Amino acid sequence: MKIDISQYKHIVILTGAGVSAASGLHTYRGQNGLWEKYEIEEQGHVDRLTDHPEKIWQLFGPLRNELETAQPNAAHYALAELEKSLGTSQAFTLITQNIDGLHQQAGSKNVIELHGTIHQTKCANPDCDLKTYPDNNAHLNKAPSCPECSHPLRPDIVLFGEIVPDNKDLLVRLSLRQCDLFLAIGTSGSVYPAAHLVRFADYAGARTIYINLDPMLPPNAAFAEEYLGKAEEILPDMFGITL
Ligand code: NAD
Ligand code: ZN
Repeated sequence: MKIDISQYKHIVILTGAGVSAASGLHTYRGQNGLWEKYEIEEQGHVDRLTDHPEKIWQLFGPLRNELETAQPNAAHYALAELEKSLGTSQAFTLITQNIDGLHQQAGSKNVIELHGTIHQTKCANPDCDLKTYPDNNAHLNKAPSCPECSHPLRPDIVLFGEIVPDNKDLLVRLSLRQCDLFLAIGTSGSVYPAAHLVRFADYAGARTIYINLDPMLPPNAAFAEEYLGKAEEILPDMFGITL
């Protein structure tokens, strides 16, 4: 399936962990997924900051180590090239659930990191003055605590039990208002956020496309088209991009 991108003016793309699979970063769900759903939701829950902050670091810290060597793959590069190829009258928003920063590393510019970034650390105490800072230490041996207030430090990501910050949610809604092409790639299509965002896109009259290794279960009727396979193979071909 080929898509002529010049026909679209408001392009919105949502990516999930599947886009980074070919970079050697495991997805949690799906084929070769690392964890059972209930396990990550328990271990990665915001409540662990209160009772067992080390569990948060044991779950997300290894990603910091993996990212010392992991590189963007053809899926990241194809999306970056797609954005570069657009004219000035075309809007492009890349919404990602990934916290790995690989889209930006590949050259993508207009990226909304829905779930934050693993590359930064902040204080778990919302009233603390400590500024969020770049940190690539995995903190696997001991959960670090804040030098200002001694509360636990945490990665700057949205944990289970937390919601996406309002300012990001607003940017996402705005991008979808006039959306005429919406793609969800490498993410479960029947659960939040893909299931939610595709409804807005569909309502705006967009062409809605789902690209993933596993089919949507249950199928989500708001996606008009589904292409099953590897994002790193489908995307360059779909947009005629030679990398
Ligand atoms: P998810 O529910 O979005 O599922 C990942 C999907 O990717 C699965 O449906 C699987 O079929 C698909 N997939 C696997 N390999 C693929 C490929 N090569 N091409 C296309 N699709 C492929 O994500 P999740 O794994 O359940 O993770 C939940 C959350 O945890 C994410 O939203 C994210 O916030 C975080 N997470 C981030 C990273 C990362 O930043 N790289 C990795 C894992 C999890
Ligand atoms: Zn603090």
